[in-house]
Amino acid sequence: MNVLLIGSGGREHALAWKLAQSPGLTTLFAAPGNPGIANHAECVALNVADHAAVTDFCREKNVALVVVGPEAPLVAGLADDLRAAGIAVFGPSKAAAQLEGSKGFTKALCTRANIPTAGYVHVTSLEQARTAIAPFGLPVVIKADGLAAGKGVTIAMTPEEADAALAALFAEPGGEAVIEEFLTGEEASLFVLTDGAALVPFGSAQDHKRVGDGDTGPNTGGMGAYSPARVLTPELERRAIEEIVRPTVAALASEGTPYSGVLYAGLMLTNTGPKLIEYNARFGDPECQVLMARFEGDLLALLQAVAEGRLAEAPAPAFAEVPALTVVMAARGYPGTPETGGAIGGIDAAEATGATVFQAGTKLAGDTLVAAGGRVLAVTASGPDVASAQAAAYRGVDALDFPTGFCRRDIGWREVERERA
Ligand code: ATP
Repeated sequence: MNVLLIGSGGREHALAWKLAQSPGLTTLFAAPGNPGIANHAECVALNVADHAAVTDFCREKNVALVVVGPEAPLVAGLADDLRAAGIAVFGPSKAAAQLEGSKGFTKALCTRANIPTAGYVHVTSLEQARTAIAPFGLPVVIKADGLAAGKGVTIAMTPEEADAALAALFAEPGGEAVIEEFLTGEEASLFVLTDGAALVPFGSAQDHKRVGDGDTGPNTGGMGAYSPARVLTPELERRAIEEIVRPTVAALASEGTPYSGVLYAGLMLTNTGPKLIEYNARFGDPECQVLMARFEGDLLALLQAVAEGRLAEAPAPAFAEVPALTVVMAARGYPGTPETGGAIGGIDAAEATGATVFQAGTKLAGDTLVAAGGRVLAVTASGPDVASAQAAAYRGVDALDFPTGFCRRDIGWREVERERA
């Protein structure tokens, strides 16, 4: 079967690497792909925002399944347009992808379906926000929504910080915000595959959002991850599925917008149980790299079963018991302006240590691989425990020759501390 993979990050390199191991694969295309993905796929310069062009490509190349990596094409309705043309897609419709695209949508769904999440109000003006925030106390969480989305999340410790965050969100017309109760606990990510009816757990992970060691400095797309997140015990995972994910999938199905694809639940494990922080409508990056390192089955057959609504008949996903850990190598300057163009060597040497190097922001300049984005590589390894997986991943990192790159040196620290205790 021919497959088209949409995306160009480390997540998509991991998906391509695993899809290439599936016996049912004939040709894998990737749009746009990257030099690492090109080891497993034929990269094509398709404009993925041009849905008609993607559809035409699929028809021309006899593509039977499209796997969408990132959220933007989903939120833009690529899956809807492909399905309307009779092409199977792994990834939710535009309506269902609102779980990621709109915090207000997700919060309203949580209220309708009685899903545990932080208490909140959705506000559309500064005056309304200033009145509504009073009962929340401090700290309080302020998130952009609607037209102002993308301005991030503020955890305000003082009334002044809260007011400044709200003023910034409502500085332009059309601002919308969600004010939330601050939740205390440890965070974990749970992945579930669903075709809108059946639902199967697809592993857990813990990521590291801050750029600096010890979880310091600004937020990033993710500097590393490990899987499984043992802090999400089997009992907590069961509760998260029964109390959060299953009611979400059921509500969307009953409302005529069934969710199909991978649903990524960002959870806070509070002392009264798991609560939903956010949903993502796709695999996480770099969480996908550690999930793929542990997944032992036929990825293509499984994603196809999801896309074709046959998940109930598919074999349950199996994962290696041993943990996997990935360390992101970023270009100097990230998450500000990354220094691009720096030469990257030593990938073979890193892989000779037993690690797998997934590429993200890379490109070829002549014969030289160079940095072309913020997050550049994800060096991934497994081991009998997280401390060993961590040591193995850093052996891979240390074999690289990427002088303009940097990484955190403490990925997995929470679990390593628990293992030592
Ligand atoms: P992301 O880039 O992670 O998708 P986002 O802009 O969608 O971020 P959220 O995921 O909702 O925003 O929040 C980002 C982070 O802020 C969370 O991972 C968590 O650490 C913190 N956070 C969010 N909501 C709360 C809350 N109610 N209580 C405590 N911390 C929170």
